[in-house]
Amino acid sequence: MFNPSTFKSGPDGITCRDVIETLMAYIDGELSPHDRAEIEKHLSICRSCVNYLESYRASVRAAAEAMRSHSPPTPMPDDLVRAILKARNTFDRPDASSPNAPPTP
Ligand SMILES: [Zn+2]
Repeated sequence: MFNPSTFKSGPDGITCRDVIETLMAYIDGELSPHDRAEIEKHLSICRSCVNYLESYRASVRAAAEAMRSHSPPTPMPDDLVRAILKARNTFDRPDASSPNAPPTP
């Protein structure tokens, strides 16, 4: 899906937007080694993208656990549902001018 020229990276590397738009492929291991290296380089210098990655992973994990269990002992909290939906919306429409879109540098 992604080839080594996914990013039009400049001298400062890729941007937060590049990271966020390819985060799902990164987590799924679908990126090329070059692209993974670019993202990891960015994550090493950008705390906000690390936070975004961690919150996204937490949402994915929570959703996976909810789906694995046919009868969860407790209902999912509303704020968790909202967090998952928000993360999904961000990835389904990465170019939408959403108020929840993370800032670009
Ligand atoms: Zn960033």
